[in-house]
Amino acid sequence: MEVMFLKRISMKGITVRERLNREKSEELFEKAKGLFPGGVNSPVRAFKAVDGCPLFIARGDKAYLWDEDGNKFIDFCCSWGPLILGHNNRGIRLAVAAQLSKGLSYGAPTVLENTLAEFIINNVEHIEKLRFVSSGTEALMSAIRLARAYTGRDKIVKFEGCYHGHSDSLLVKAGSGLVTLGKTSSAGVPDSFAQQTIVIGLGDSAAIEYVFSQFADQIAAVIIEGIPANNGLLIQEKGYIKFLREITEQHNAMLIFDEVITGFRLGIGGAAAYYGVKPDIVTFGKIIGGGMPVGAYGGSKALMSMISPDGPVYQAGTLSGNPVAMSAGIAALKQLLKPMFYEKLERKTRSMVTAIQKHITQQGYEVVLFSIGSMFWFSFSTQQVMRKAEDIDPLSMHRHKLMHKILLRCGVYFGPSGYEVGFVSSAHTAADLRYTVEVIKYALDQVFQENIVQ
Ligand SMILES: *Cc1c(COP(=O)(O)O)cnc(C)c1O
Repeated sequence: MEVMFLKRISMKGITVRERLNREKSEELFEKAKGLFPGGVNSPVRAFKAVDGCPLFIARGDKAYLWDEDGNKFIDFCCSWGPLILGHNNRGIRLAVAAQLSKGLSYGAPTVLENTLAEFIINNVEHIEKLRFVSSGTEALMSAIRLARAYTGRDKIVKFEGCYHGHSDSLLVKAGSGLVTLGKTSSAGVPDSFAQQTIVIGLGDSAAIEYVFSQFADQIAAVIIEGIPANNGLLIQEKGYIKFLREITEQHNAMLIFDEVITGFRLGIGGAAAYYGVKPDIVTFGKIIGGGMPVGAYGGSKALMSMISPDGPVYQAGTLSGNPVAMSAGIAALKQLLKPMFYEKLERKTRSMVTAIQKHITQQGYEVVLFSIGSMFWFSFSTQQVMRKAEDIDPLSMHRHKLMHKILLRCGVYFGPSGYEVGFVSSAHTAADLRYTVEVIKYALDQVFQENIVQ
């Protein structure tokens, strides 16, 4: 158990208190360790990167989480991205409740699927047809199968540091050497799968030119995250993404945008609209389910006619298009379409980021706060431009770890790893963000204090 540490009253009159009770979470985690590998149902939840035990959450409302010990947090993990409207959003809750009394699943079509699909198709350029699945992983796995079927080729090109779910073809990391066939990044993935995936560094035009010069007629697709945000926030140059579009087109390979995070986060049109680039296949997840398990992949009519039952690419799902999940998604997207939604969210995020960055600059701390739209990421380095995975120094993570601990004690919840980005939701109030700014300044002051005991 950790209780009351210090407190500081900021110049703005905001009291920062440190206290955290973990008794119940520790007890529950002990029990969970006997039930699940590592005590969790998704690895990063285990808090391994930040030590300590995960907090067992009892409840979420607006921008806040409460754990089983009664600690309250301002949440910037937001369920890893889906909760752009915060917790327990009224519109989503009412829509889900209305559906609940009508049954949970039918295994037959509903009008809800049409409605959510129309929302997406009408608002995201380049998508004429789509298919709903139940997770981002499933969407990506299916998108790859579709690209392979359409091109009649097997190889895919992915970028080091981009995460596309845990299907076999995508759990692959770079081998040694400039351009080599990939190595599996998980036990249990056959080498023969990994050899169909080429992994290169982000932002490296020469590498991709080389890959096409070697394997041109074997490459089915190049796949990239809308904004790479699963391994730090590696904002790419628009020109580079345009180049990816050109070179794929030139070699009749598909360009897949994995917009599982960026879809309806970066704006209604996602990364495709941000870059002004037309991808062949787009994948979604997270936000389009409003907090329920939903994924989707889509593209042109011609491409999507490859999918069963129209075409030869098999893909199915017992709970695909689940009516409760569709209701949540529709209720979420309706709110995102309101005028100025994204402008307001970005303005809020920018004001928080600017205030923190000002303190960093004043103090000369070795940390850069990267941000785009309503996403942000602390990089403990002085490098002002970070485009590829190897720009991130693993040794800098001890600072993140310390910051994370202090933030938790002060009631601010970040994803438990220095490689994870933070998300601001529309539920975060100006007061929430002002408090967060003071807490982060306080935490950074401690992180950069000399001779700190870690
Ligand atoms: C979260 C994520 C996935 C995987 O989605 P799941 O729903 O966790 O399977 C795929 N791609 C990106 C970019 C993601 O952020």
